[in-house]
Amino acid sequence: MSKQAESETFDPVDLFPDATEMDLRPGVDKCDKNGNCETVCPVAEVNEDFPGPKFQGPEQWRLTRKGDIEFDESVDKCLNCMRCDTACTNDVPLGQMHNVARANYVKNQKSHASREYLRNKMLANYGTLGKLGSMMPRISNTVFGLGATRWLNEKLLGFPSERSFPDFATQTFRGWWSDRGGDATSTERAREAREARGETGEDKKVAFFHGCYANYHQTEVAKSMVRLYESLGYEIAVPEQSCCGTPMFANGMLEDARGVAEGNVDTFGSLVEDGYDLIATCTSCSMALRKEYPELFDIDGIEDVASHMFDAVEYLRVNEDLEAELAGADVDFPAMTYHAPCHGEVMGVEGIVTELFADVDGVELEDTGDVCCGLAGTYGWKAEKYDDSMEIGAEMFEAFEEAPGEVALTECPMCSAQIEHGTGYEVKHPMELLETALVES
Ligand code: SF4
Ligand code: SF4
Repeated sequence: MSKQAESETFDPVDLFPDATEMDLRPGVDKCDKNGNCETVCPVAEVNEDFPGPKFQGPEQWRLTRKGDIEFDESVDKCLNCMRCDTACTNDVPLGQMHNVARANYVKNQKSHASREYLRNKMLANYGTLGKLGSMMPRISNTVFGLGATRWLNEKLLGFPSERSFPDFATQTFRGWWSDRGGDATSTERAREAREARGETGEDKKVAFFHGCYANYHQTEVAKSMVRLYESLGYEIAVPEQSCCGTPMFANGMLEDARGVAEGNVDTFGSLVEDGYDLIATCTSCSMALRKEYPELFDIDGIEDVASHMFDAVEYLRVNEDLEAELAGADVDFPAMTYHAPCHGEVMGVEGIVTELFADVDGVELEDTGDVCCGLAGTYGWKAEKYDDSMEIGAEMFEAFEEAPGEVALTECPMCSAQIEHGTGYEVKHPMELLETALVES
């Protein structure tokens, strides 16, 4: 094991079976420097000081593997979009290398007394902030909406005053789920739906990883998922859970991430053993459990959790004849414009939404193409990165302006926040569109 790995409580997992030691060296050796990763990096495109993914990954890893050279501070500027990981033609595990390098930099070199570190720690542990804010949502929304609060947040903590904090829902998704009767009610509703559909058997069971945003903010997305899945005969379990850890990976706080990963793997691993598949409505949440956990942590049951984790649209596409279901739908939507999140592309689910709705009468859906929104989870919530965030998003904003639709569609809540901020569009999730088409119509 390398010195860096020994110094941490997380262990990057060796993805290469021929490796003779537990480090990422074989991945480094696979890089032939063709530069494909450089062409897709949104930060390198707008910030000439950022040396790009090849440097952050194989080159830096080669330089630092003996533990006697410090990580370059530019690794803190990577927004963890993982577009480079997808673009690499030689299977170099860039995302894993960046996550480990960033964690080493933040732990050993970044000042823990700085305003930036405190702000990043708050962003990384958004689950706690969200819980506090949702205790008194109306008061939180009023306070966070004040110009004076935004000004203070920028001066004291380094949050950009240009951005509005997302509104807290007046009731959390978990509160709604519990009032509705929890898992038992879902089982009952799903059984009735299966009977009505003439289906037999009891093996349609999914456990929902709602994450922070669907619980505290976009609760309508989670509710749409519930109504849609139940109408198709799925029993849903909603266990106690932590944040997925994505904001922790992005801010180099892998010890925090290991804590939440252990809890989530334990909870969702037990459900997998009981015959459940796992779904999330946020592509960053599903990607964390499917890709980042097994790359970074060696936890009992992690592979089972990863191999049963699906994006909620992807899961229905795999397990149901959605085209046939949609063929009978009678809907009249306004024209929409779709943005594919970077983490959806990493999951391999890009194209599913546009394909699904391509032949549905009453749906006009245009794609913004392969562009990064620039918010990237917590990156755009940092005052010093706000300008780069908006410059990265400019291509997407332009695509929205040119498209005929005035409603946006995307799976990622952070892309959704950036679209609203940059274009003023109302944003919907594909689950809401599917619910309207298949449950309400
Ligand atoms: S993860 Fe995204 S921002 Fe970071 S180096 Fe790769 S492409 Fe660039
Ligand atoms: S795309 Fe992969 S192989 Fe090519 S330079 Fe980047 S890391 Fe190396």
